[in-house]
Amino acid sequence: MTTTGTTAVSRTLVLVKPDGVRRGLSGEILRRIEAKGYTLVAVELTHATDELLAQHYAEHEGKPFYAPLVEFMRSGPVLAVVAEGQGVIPGFRSLAGATDPTAAAPGTIRGDLGRDWGLKVQQNLVHGSDSEESAAREIGLWFPNL
Ligand code: GDP
Ligand code: MG
Repeated sequence: MTTTGTTAVSRTLVLVKPDGVRRGLSGEILRRIEAKGYTLVAVELTHATDELLAQHYAEHEGKPFYAPLVEFMRSGPVLAVVAEGQGVIPGFRSLAGATDPTAAAPGTIRGDLGRDWGLKVQQNLVHGSDSEESAAREIGLWFPNL
């Protein structure tokens, strides 16, 4: 959404996935979000339920990686984050890098900190909303009181 001469502030949902939390990278990932100039609006360490993950990953239901993905996302706590700023939705995707951490460019979260641990692209440290619609939907799921 834009108004004349300005870019509207938007919000995105970021998840530090269980691999990122386990490896102690939550602080580094939050640091990169803040260093880029985005504002942290909400941060919560939580264990995702099957129900929440089914809603969050509804677009992937039926794909071969869906069940292992949900299992992985339930393997430990997740850090749920709402970040805010102009352009934050594509901006965080750009900070995160390509889905496959082996292919993700150096300088990105996945490129600098991620690798293939045997399940190819599954353990890639972070999730970031991919559109205004996804962001609104996902923030509503993870932070119903926001
Ligand atoms: P993202 O938007 O970059 O996170 O990627 P997608 O929305 O396409 O996929 C959601 C998540 O599912 C990814 O971040 C990975 O954790 C996982 N994933 C995607 N593709 C594959 C795959 O081919 N195999 C496995 N094991 N996991 C996948
Ligand atoms: Mg996605």
